[in-house]
Amino acid sequence: MEYIIETHDITKKYNDFTAVNSINLKVPKNSVYGVLGPNGAGKTTLISMLCTILYPTSGTATVNGYDIVKNPKDVRKSIGVVFQSRSLDDILTGREHLEMHASLYGVPSEVRKERIEEVLDLIALGEKADQYVKTYSGGMKRRLEIGRGLIHHPEVLILDEPTLGLDPQTRESIWKYVNELNKKEDITVLMTTHYMEEADKLCDEVAIMNLGNIITADSPINLKRELKADTITIRVDKADKFIQEAEKLDFIKEIFRIDSEIKLMVERGENLVAEVVNFANNNKIFVNSIELEHPNLEDVFIKYTGTTIADGG
Ligand code: ADP
Repeated sequence: MEYIIETHDITKKYNDFTAVNSINLKVPKNSVYGVLGPNGAGKTTLISMLCTILYPTSGTATVNGYDIVKNPKDVRKSIGVVFQSRSLDDILTGREHLEMHASLYGVPSEVRKERIEEVLDLIALGEKADQYVKTYSGGMKRRLEIGRGLIHHPEVLILDEPTLGLDPQTRESIWKYVNELNKKEDITVLMTTHYMEEADKLCDEVAIMNLGNIITADSPINLKRELKADTITIRVDKADKFIQEAEKLDFIKEIFRIDSEIKLMVERGENLVAEVVNFANNNKIFVNSIELEHPNLEDVFIKYTGTTIADGG
């Protein structure tokens, strides 16, 4: 595995307060990598050091092979950055923003025009390119900011809370664009988020962060699988009888009854749904409905911290 970002005990202290505590991350090249955690976890501080905006108190990191402390200029050339604070100018058009950024980053003038068209296409703003930004929706503005971060062909795109403040529908469309550009541009995306659904749907790998520490890191599917806790929810005509018989099944770890529903806690539930139905039929119990639920990243966070992401820290 080739890693495009590696941190080595990277630490940031504000006086006595440790915002980032000796973190070791490895971000695989061409992945979409998420740092998930509640507000105040230290996510922005961590990526600010990787962007060379903040200097680590101790430890270091490499981005695209360059040391953030020794070679900050080369690091900056390797990355495109989209921070939370809105940074567009209402009285410029989308194209003008991209042109400005291209010249700022020294994109050669002979390829500039073509590159701008390419990026406009990628973020689906071609038709709106010559309108003022003040006429753009929230989602379009976000896409333009992302496009601007891409204009100089960076190896890594760093996004701080890319869908903060956007409605759920716009959020999903941003996920789609990020996924597409990750594939089309051969780029690694490193992003922070406190939306567990976003980390789950968008990221190939997720590092869960709390109180300055990375508590675990893996693919969303592995993180959830580790909980060994799928839930099969079943409604049957003879609930008492079902529970009595089901207690004999050793693949069921726990049984809960909530009103008319019976919840069976199992591992690898996808292999067991048919078995549960057959078992009911064999016992002359009629199944009205059956549903399988996998745990989510919130459950993973709770397991490690005893608190929800929304409650934080
Ligand atoms: P996140 O991005 O996960 O919300 P931050 O990295 O912004 O977290 O902040 C992590 C912690 O560091 C928070 O407790 C925050 O209050 C603190 N912090 C951030 N910046 C500063 C600063 N300049 N001075 C003192 N404390 C700070």
